[in-house]
Amino acid sequence: MLIALAVAAIVQAATFSDVAPVRAQPLVGSITRPAVAALRGRTTAPAPVSSEIVPPGRQSVRVPILMYHYIRVNPDPRDKVGFNLSVTPADFTQQMDWLAQHGYHPVDFDDLRGYLMGHANLPSRPVVLTFDDGYRDMYTTAFPVLRAHGFKAVSYVVSGFVGSPSSVTVDQVQQMNANGIEIGAHTVSHADLTRISPAERHREVFDSKASLEALLGHPVLDFCYPSGRVDDAVVREVEAAGFETATTTQPGVLHSAGDRFTWTRVRVGGGEPLDQFVANLGQSEPTEVVQQPRPRLTPDRGGLRQLPVTFPLRPPPAALAEAPATTELIP
Ligand SMILES: [Zn+2]
Repeated sequence: MLIALAVAAIVQAATFSDVAPVRAQPLVGSITRPAVAALRGRTTAPAPVSSEIVPPGRQSVRVPILMYHYIRVNPDPRDKVGFNLSVTPADFTQQMDWLAQHGYHPVDFDDLRGYLMGHANLPSRPVVLTFDDGYRDMYTTAFPVLRAHGFKAVSYVVSGFVGSPSSVTVDQVQQMNANGIEIGAHTVSHADLTRISPAERHREVFDSKASLEALLGHPVLDFCYPSGRVDDAVVREVEAAGFETATTTQPGVLHSAGDRFTWTRVRVGGGEPLDQFVANLGQSEPTEVVQQPRPRLTPDRGGLRQLPVTFPLRPPPAALAEAPATTELIP
């Protein structure tokens, strides 16, 4: 039975993509130990606990991918573009507090890819926090707030800007990568990929990946189109480079493996009232309460802690198999 589940998981992963995720948690080891203890009739296994999760097997899931840029007080009141891209540290802290108080669980693209490949569950009320462009305040202002909340996030870094006065440094990128922040690529020079030559497009996409991977020492699998500018040729280039997902600036919260190169996001604008922020998250993905072995906390790659994957793969109830698409778009 366990072997069959493990084989099913491997087959499912193999059909999703020929590029394996590097940090996905193996399913087999985590379900074997409690099951073996039960077979031997031992009473030392800890009692199961109830957990609320998004169960495996859904083709599409509602996971708001929030889009931030600067976390700062906009320095020039006349700069309307800068204002709209700047969430103040006070507002940002309030938003993170609200997410924590209302049971939201920030996940990263490793988690979302893992779910859609059938490797892992998602926690209840999953949300992805993305920060575009790799501005210095991502490290100096957002990162400490995220750490204080124990939140994962994703930083889309423009590789050619690393080390410039307004951007993160090499050391800062490495520190974030080691402490719960997934680093994604955002081209070499923030070029509009739909308006440059094929050769330039190739360089912007491939070189940004190679340069971040050299800096981090592991594959970089997630991409973000500068200014949301994308067409079919750009998608093909990003896929050919070996990326596994890419995000746009189009609004929406419903995501599947099939549209993983055009995942939509939820913009968080400067001066946005908290009730607007909350409304933009939309309806949460339905959850199920499951019994699973008492979780043993294990160190995450960055010192943050996360729950191990402990449930068996099984088909979802028919009623929950696919959420209706009618409320996908956010006004
Ligand atoms: Zn950008």
